[in-house]
Amino acid sequence: MPEEIVLGYDVGGTKLGIGLVTADGKILGQARIENKDTYPEDVLPQLVTIAGKLVAEAGLTMKDVSGFGISAPGVADVAKGILTAPVNNKYWRNVPIQQYLQDNLGLPGCFENDANCGALAEGYFGAGRGVDDFIYLTMSTGVGAGIVTGGTLVRGVGLYGGEAGHIVIEANSGRKCSCGLSGCYEAYCGGRSIALYLQEKLKDQPGHKIVECAGGNVNDIDMVALEKAYRAGDALAQEIWAEMSLRNAQAMGLMINMLNPKRIILGTLAWAIGDIYTDPIKELLPRFAWKEMLADFELVNSELRRDIGTYAGAAAALYFLLKKPFKVS
Ligand SMILES: [Zn+2]
Repeated sequence: MPEEIVLGYDVGGTKLGIGLVTADGKILGQARIENKDTYPEDVLPQLVTIAGKLVAEAGLTMKDVSGFGISAPGVADVAKGILTAPVNNKYWRNVPIQQYLQDNLGLPGCFENDANCGALAEGYFGAGRGVDDFIYLTMSTGVGAGIVTGGTLVRGVGLYGGEAGHIVIEANSGRKCSCGLSGCYEAYCGGRSIALYLQEKLKDQPGHKIVECAGGNVNDIDMVALEKAYRAGDALAQEIWAEMSLRNAQAMGLMINMLNPKRIILGTLAWAIGDIYTDPIKELLPRFAWKEMLADFELVNSELRRDIGTYAGAAAALYFLLKKPFKVS
């Protein structure tokens, strides 16, 4: 029987990726279009045209494609497949993308948030291969999570499950989070939150090492500037790094004791920065998780890294439409 083929869409704030992928992870075609400040009425027809082109270039027809998956940013109505208010796409409001693509591609489709799709992608093709219990953490501008337990993606009654970035880890005087709560994990470890915290803290210190590492502009402070200052031995950078590592270990320890996963798979910041990001977390984990839980536990980096977007939507299609299990037997 020929390998099943699916289409995956990855809706990002600046780029929109389309991939034609086989069930065993072979990429038959991929494309990317600009998605910064676009209008959905311009972009949606392109999603259909480009998919048709990728399918034709692979020597196939739409009949050979089993379905499509959409990896979507928040805020979204997952059940209905609607991009309600994607954070980085200000003109996209209440866009029924799943229905549109179903109607125009003539294929069954599915829709899931990008962190959950990332977990599914790692589960089929990356660091979660053959593992039934793992957590994927995006570790990027925000902290998104996808939780797989017993081979099943945790979705919850309202399909909001797995928002580990917004577990509150500081009850009193916690840092304000973009979600409206205070003291969230993301408020301490999300790239955007750390950058904003430092920009505010250093707004009157233009000569500070971290500002220098940001090219001299306080408003350009980001994780790259923090990393540079940390490697250069700056005291504030060390302090922020220690806090970030502690909060990461605290939040991960909480997840480990609750779910007893085999792996936590870390996205962008972890693989971009390397061991100086993950080593302190590993050292601190025994403070927050039982040794029995840590005995079979591994903290690893994403294997798909930058390519995760190409696989994300396709992985959703494999999971929700084709019901492919993770288990490699
Ligand atoms: Zn939050």
